[in-house]
Amino acid sequence: MIHLTKIYMLCMQDELETALRDYVGRETPLYFAERLTNHYKNEDGHGPEIYLKREDLNHCGAHKMNNAIDQAMIAKRMGLKSVVAATGAGQHGVATAAACAKLSLESTVFMGTSDMEKQSLNVLMMKLFGAEVRGVEGNFKDASSQAIREWVGNLQTTYYLTGTVVGPHPCPSMVREFQSVIGKETRRQAMEKWGGKPDVLLASVVSGSNALGIFHEFVGDEDVRLIGVEAAGFGLDSGKHAATLARGEVGVYHEAMSYLLQDEEGQIIEPHSIGVGLTYPGVSPELSFLKDTRRVEFYSTTDEEAVEAYKRLRKIEGIIPSLEASHALAFLEKLCSTLPSGTKVIVNCSGRGDKDAATVLNYQQYSM
Ligand SMILES: *Cc1c(COP(=O)(O)O)cnc(C)c1O
Repeated sequence: MIHLTKIYMLCMQDELETALRDYVGRETPLYFAERLTNHYKNEDGHGPEIYLKREDLNHCGAHKMNNAIDQAMIAKRMGLKSVVAATGAGQHGVATAAACAKLSLESTVFMGTSDMEKQSLNVLMMKLFGAEVRGVEGNFKDASSQAIREWVGNLQTTYYLTGTVVGPHPCPSMVREFQSVIGKETRRQAMEKWGGKPDVLLASVVSGSNALGIFHEFVGDEDVRLIGVEAAGFGLDSGKHAATLARGEVGVYHEAMSYLLQDEEGQIIEPHSIGVGLTYPGVSPELSFLKDTRRVEFYSTTDEEAVEAYKRLRKIEGIIPSLEASHALAFLEKLCSTLPSGTKVIVNCSGRGDKDAATVLNYQQYSM
């Protein structure tokens, strides 16, 4: 499979470049968040400079399309007729449904029934793009298991379009490769803007695709700090969080070894976070490795801190970030005062937050 995939990728370089530019809308801007920068200055006017990598401006509103379009092209080249996928918050499902419509492939998207209720807008979008949306009792992990089952039963006709950097090889490497366009652009844009590298890269981590997408290009640059931020839910000690790297133990899940939220008997513990897309019990094997080698630092922020960050960016920059990205943005509150003045910080703004508006509104009513 990896061998074939490589050959197909070579054939489609030109087609892919055109699609990324004219369909997805790349490159995405590296935006200087001037008012956010001012917000974090101390009394003497010192503080880091904050930039946003605007993945929210991609077609369908998230980094997911960087990967979905490429894999849909692979499915087409392999002569397959249909695509199955699993989605959590629905962003991957929407990107997959759109890419399949463009390439005239049938698509079936599996989604947890609890996620379908919370993300009805994304369910509607998938249907508009022509996908069949199949509800699976439970959440994203149950939907993934079902999608994999469906694929394994129909290997001759069906392609499993994986949305993130987890699961069996070569899925994680392939998705990381497709998402690494984020970091490659970031390096070039930083060079254009200030003639150097960024000092700190900050990204939210659920399963790790937007984080690895921006980190991968810089893993060999030891002078660039890489920071992943997980969802601490109600707090790390509450037992209701999704901080797999901070609190998980090594285990095997969906055919891959990584840190996992599991109990003493190896049974999965349900993750919790206000962002529905933020609830996967496992995490990228590659990020797990980068934790062990200490190349990437990991921290976490709570539901409450993420909601504050969501509101802050909306108010002072006129940008509504996804709740996932809001977890990374929330970490600026702790990070900024520890950095030398002028430090160049880039936050990966993985997606736009329209899909989360109702969740934030409910959260506020709930907590008032
Ligand atoms: C899916 C998604 C994420 C989380 O997934 P990762 O694989 O950890 O990147 C983050 N942000 C947005 C906007 C998403 O749609």
